[in-house]
Amino acid sequence: MTSAPLRLGISRCLLGDEVRFDRGHKRDQFLTDVLGRYVEWVPVCPEVEAGLGIPREAMRLVGNPQHPRLVTITSKHDHTEAMETMAEGRLDSLNSLDLSGFVFKRGSPSCGLERVRVYTVQGMPSQSGVGIFAKAFTEQFPLIPVEEEGRLCDPALRENFIERVFCYRRFQDLVQNGVTKQTLIRFHTIHKYLLLAHSQQHYEAMGRLVGQAERYRLKELTLKYGEQFMTTLTMKATVRKHVNVLQHIVGYFKSRLTTQEKAELLDVIADYHRGLTPLIVPLTLVKHYVQIFDVGYMRDQVYLNPHPKELMLRNHV
Ligand code: SF4
Repeated sequence: MTSAPLRLGISRCLLGDEVRFDRGHKRDQFLTDVLGRYVEWVPVCPEVEAGLGIPREAMRLVGNPQHPRLVTITSKHDHTEAMETMAEGRLDSLNSLDLSGFVFKRGSPSCGLERVRVYTVQGMPSQSGVGIFAKAFTEQFPLIPVEEEGRLCDPALRENFIERVFCYRRFQDLVQNGVTKQTLIRFHTIHKYLLLAHSQQHYEAMGRLVGQAERYRLKELTLKYGEQFMTTLTMKATVRKHVNVLQHIVGYFKSRLTTQEKAELLDVIADYHRGLTPLIVPLTLVKHYVQIFDVGYMRDQVYLNPHPKELMLRNHV
């Protein structure tokens, strides 16, 4: 079973390319120097690809926040149609690239995912909107994880986005390698504790879906599973939920610990619960015992290793 490269779309200016309206860029060092070691970027600058040139007059969203127009600020030139035409063709070509995520530039009338200012025709900023290309992308690819570079400065959001990217890649592999009900159940089994860390309610619903696998045709089951899988992973994994998962895992080998080892382990989990240490601390000790006691079912849990440890994402949550 081979895995395709982890390929992510990105607003091109975030890579340092000088494609902004003023010939500038918005290079993001975490994306280029850190995450870039693990992914193959697919750069997209919707405005340049729509033929708007560099430099170009600055633009903004105007009108109905649900269906705004993309209009230049001074000359009031309307580029909405050019952008929509570009998006249609570009989304087709992106479809064949099997993206596992997309990082968008915050606040842009083309690329912003949320809270993009929409102006009235009189020039007053009103409700928040979504960039025209970003909206088209998320409508066409609702399961693909997306995030803005600004939000990736938050350690919890960063960890969550990258976790979703790796999970989605595994789901793509599952489908592309010829999913069967058995491989889907196996996939679900190794993701159980990760899902539980996000939402007990969703975890239970997915357990019911997989438990009733025989009731569904394979295609329908895979579709439903993929939707629920990616939705569950967007739910916030809190400290309390992680503590719950850690305690579940400890339950598998607790009886094999000495009284002192058990007390130490529970102390380490309690320190994490109180905010004195990051998740990596109790997790490292738990993983140590899973290895020592060779707890097979636990050893395979993606929860223990959801993304490359070199990214150190759990050192900050
Ligand atoms: S925000 Fe989007 S449209 Fe604007 S320069 Fe960056 S990639 Fe191009």
